[in-house]
Amino acid sequence: MSTYDERLASFAPRKLKSSKKTTINALLAKGWPHPTSASTSNGRPYKATPTTLADAGFYFDPRADKVDNVTCFMCDHSLAEWTPEDDPFEEHLNMGSKCAWAIARCSIELNRQLDGSFVFRSEDRLPTAKVMEKARAETFRGHWIHDSVKGHTANSRKMAKAGWTFNPGEAEDSDIATCYYCGKSLDGWEAGDDPLAEHRKRMPKCPMFTAQLVEEGGPEPTLPDPVPIPLPPASSSSSAPKKQAKSRRIEP
Ligand SMILES: [Zn+2]
Ligand SMILES: [Zn+2]
Repeated sequence: MSTYDERLASFAPRKLKSSKKTTINALLAKGWPHPTSASTSNGRPYKATPTTLADAGFYFDPRADKVDNVTCFMCDHSLAEWTPEDDPFEEHLNMGSKCAWAIARCSIELNRQLDGSFVFRSEDRLPTAKVMEKARAETFRGHWIHDSVKGHTANSRKMAKAGWTFNPGEAEDSDIATCYYCGKSLDGWEAGDDPLAEHRKRMPKCPMFTAQLVEEGGPEPTLPDPVPIPLPPASSSSSAPKKQAKSRRIEP
């Protein structure tokens, strides 16, 4: 479940090989029990959809007594009993675990405004903060193929320092790295590549290079009315990471 595509697919109704009629099999066959898009015609929209849950690191993992249980691929913590207001990114970060995905990926969404800009009110959440860099480095640990090449300049330490998070694809030798601030993904890293220069060259306005701390008591960002989160394409077989602009109200 380390890839986004695997996690997203886990929420779809499944044809199971086993014919055993267990409760879990019945739940997996039905798929995610809540609305699967943010805009529903019957009732309130859910912030937790297969798209946002998979992006926040969760895969569908129902239990007999928790039909909407999800589990994080990285920290193995589970969450269930989702309400429309529950934000997967916020919930993951609030689970109390020191999950690298929660810090490196989920915390970013809490700083993102509806217009796509960022407001950073805590030094620990600045893209260049040590705690953020450490969490990004954690996502590469044990998986980054270039760490085994002596002298490779795109090693996981330099990748994390330059704002990149490991975002594996299906291939064994996948080396897709994503900056979750600007949404840029790059793969095919070569010895000699400078992860910071590659990032800055392509996305000079990325918060990695422009973010500033907004002091407490500083001007409040104005939030427009919430807009529905756009649906992902109906079918997608690409293993490349899919980044979408999130349109979500950030609670103060
Ligand atoms: Zn986690
Ligand atoms: Zn970036």
